[in-house]
Amino acid sequence: MAIEKVFMVDNTSVIADEVLSHRLGLIPLDADPRLFDYISDDVPNERNTIVYKLHVSCEKGSQRLTVKSGQLEWLPEGSQLTMASPAQSGDNQRTYTSFGQSQQNTSERPLGVKYNDITIARLGPGQAIELEAHAVKGVGKVHAKWSPVATAWYRMLPEVVLLKEIKNGDAEELVKRCPVNVFDIEDLGKGEKRAVVAKPRSCTLCRECVRLADDQVELRRVRDHFIFTIESTGALPPEVLFTEAVKILEEKCERVISELS
Ligand code: SF4
Repeated sequence: MAIEKVFMVDNTSVIADEVLSHRLGLIPLDADPRLFDYISDDVPNERNTIVYKLHVSCEKGSQRLTVKSGQLEWLPEGSQLTMASPAQSGDNQRTYTSFGQSQQNTSERPLGVKYNDITIARLGPGQAIELEAHAVKGVGKVHAKWSPVATAWYRMLPEVVLLKEIKNGDAEELVKRCPVNVFDIEDLGKGEKRAVVAKPRSCTLCRECVRLADDQVELRRVRDHFIFTIESTGALPPEVLFTEAVKILEEKCERVISELS
């Protein structure tokens, strides 16, 4: 979910409407997109739209004011802006959304923003911002604001194999050489000790150990074991992002298979 439409009622700050709207679009929202539908027919309702309101002003004669993302107020009942003046429409109830029911029970927690301390704007004395922002569900292919992932990468599980027993001074040298402490010392008794592979998962494949003893250490990768590192923007935890991504990949594979068969 990300803010897609901004209805600007008043903006006397130095930041232009379109820049402010773009900035709002990039604020991570604390809303699980799986609870919502894509907005297809352009009728915003409680299943496809989340509405936020921002109404801040800096009094004349006071200090400059910083507007933060936490000041965006979630409106679970939908838009409060009427589409036309009562004199024009004869109907003062019609707003920019058509919520059939409140969103209060949509999620266990309020559908607010993920982080409250993101600076949106700075207001000088006498300046004000009043707007309503509508968030909808989308995909990162259309705009990066809908991507729930900041950074993601994977690597294959490293396998560090000692081809020969490395003992005593050589073992200590090997332990010292590894920058991430993959090796450890095992005490064999009678003053004897040998190197063992203690934490192969930490290996970064820097090859320092191979440079020291290339005929004694071998580095391999487990070809069917992948370690993913996923940084979430906050809407979903990384482990959920991974399983959801696998589901999408599965669907794409099935589509390709069905088209080819
Ligand atoms: S490749 Fe680098 S990180 Fe991996 S075990 Fe050797 S020294 Fe340690």
